Amino acid sequence: MTQETGGFAALDLNPNIVAAVVATGYEEPSAIQQQSIPIILAGHDMIGQAQTGTGKTAAFALPVLNRIDVSKREPQALILAPTRELALQVATAFETYAKQMPGVNVVAVYGGAPMGPQLKAIRNGAQIVVATPGRLCDHLRRDEKVLSTVKFLVLDEADEMLKLGFMDDLEVIFAAIPETRQTVLFSATLPSSIRSIAERHLRDPKHVKIQTKTQTVTAIEQSHLMVHADQKIPAVLRLLEVEEFDALIAFVRTKQATLDLASALEAKGYKAAALNGDIAQNQRERVIESLKDGRLDIVVATDVAARGLDVPRITHVFNVDMPYDPESYVHRIGRTGRAGREGRALLLVTPRERRMLQLIERVTGQKVTEARLPGPQAVLDARIKKLTTSLAPLVAEAEASHGELLDRLTADLGCSPRALASALLRKATNGQALSLESVEREQPLVPTGAPRERTERSGERSERSGGDRERRAPMPLGEGRVRCRTALGARDGIAAKNLLGAILNEGGLARDAIGRIQVRDSFSLVELPEEGLERLLSKLKDTRVAGKQLKLRRYRED
Ligand code: ADP
Ligand code: MG
Repeated sequence: MTQETGGFAALDLNPNIVAAVVATGYEEPSAIQQQSIPIILAGHDMIGQAQTGTGKTAAFALPVLNRIDVSKREPQALILAPTRELALQVATAFETYAKQMPGVNVVAVYGGAPMGPQLKAIRNGAQIVVATPGRLCDHLRRDEKVLSTVKFLVLDEADEMLKLGFMDDLEVIFAAIPETRQTVLFSATLPSSIRSIAERHLRDPKHVKIQTKTQTVTAIEQSHLMVHADQKIPAVLRLLEVEEFDALIAFVRTKQATLDLASALEAKGYKAAALNGDIAQNQRERVIESLKDGRLDIVVATDVAARGLDVPRITHVFNVDMPYDPESYVHRIGRTGRAGREGRALLLVTPRERRMLQLIERVTGQKVTEARLPGPQAVLDARIKKLTTSLAPLVAEAEASHGELLDRLTADLGCSPRALASALLRKATNGQALSLESVEREQPLVPTGAPRERTERSGERSERSGGDRERRAPMPLGEGRVRCRTALGARDGIAAKNLLGAILNEGGLARDAIGRIQVRDSFSLVELPEEGLERLLSKLKDTRVAGKQLKLRRYRED
């Protein structure tokens, strides 16, 4: 174990919990975790106030896991969350953190699913119940004793629960749990309604508030890009095509993420390396040296591993994963703009992290402007510019040094110098797309600015512009054509031209053989010629679009 994993180890948690947390890639506790865990372990009631994305789940889940008695197969901890989606997230987190604690059972209880199995799971020995208040009250009406063994009560996102009108349900639940319990309340804000709940139902609570001090940042141009979590790597790759940087540091949250991004960058030919707490100290120093002297241009690091990293060459900081708090953001981006030089900082923001972005802007008193992904034309221009720059010093002396060779090659190959140049270019650029059409086809489409994620609170899908088209009846089919379906859709970052490109390339069809392509959120339909369909589908068997298997199948509407 490296010294950084001591961060969790130092918290006095059961080693099996620490091991599971380390295995998920966390290197050190976030501020709210650092402060809450000892308080909860010591048995105090607590009020924790921190923004979304600061790691509140582990802040209560780890000490709660630590305190339950695995040998007792009865509900011991009750976690209340505002929505079904959040309840499921919390339940999954508990399962992850309990991976190395055999005998721990977690049940999620929420509306919209049958009650019987939920009640059975509770009675069959789940020690941890994660529930939405409404559904839990339904259960209490069937069995008022169901919570009588609960010792730990956690209210997660208490402000949201009140906004959703769960006040009365909460009162019913408080009354159903023995008063000797320990109660912990987490909330992003503490309106008076929450304070009054705390006064009535918490005993002498300790307060933990993650302070946000004003910070100053200078000489750094800051921007952000809205992106979905699964589109971060393609987004970074695309941005880097047009971004002129000297050295760049990319921050992510976990060890695995350092490896994933570093290897994606290497695969694109960047001199990149990962820097995380698993890497031995002397190796880490070598990585930093390499970044200093230009053997590396990009380092993908966790906060811990980047500690003390000071490399004047750094012109760019990419916050690929959101920092836990504005201080950490300011600290990260301070890696650039050293010695009065200009620096650029980019922050990737997923839809649920918008509030953290606002907080960062408030705390730093600066606007973090919205960036857009460069389009195909910009990517193409950048590629050609790079090519020109790299060729410029060579062409100056080329004629003199290779004149004879050229004559011989064109003669031997029986081709024109132009054809030869074109072949050499293709070889030198490794087949990179260098026409607008081909760049358009290869672009991994990263939806920006148009969130398609479920909104965290309402559990509803936010409508995309094409949302209502989704309900329209399919168009009539062209003659001799059949409709095929793939489970890839807009939410996978797919656009019609990606499908078209893939089918044209891999299927070897003529453009006019392909009919209408309709891309929906969660699937797409393509009209293909009925004749030879089987052969075509088998040719496309292993085709991938935007990194995912196309798996095109005939679609029967009846
Ligand atoms: P909150 O409840 O405060 O909004 P979450 O508990 O959902 O935040 O955590 C946000 C994200 O951060 C999750 O993806 C979680 O896995 C990750 N995370 C939490 N704590 C750590 C940590 N100590 N190190 C790395 N990642 C963490
Ligand atoms: Mg949370």
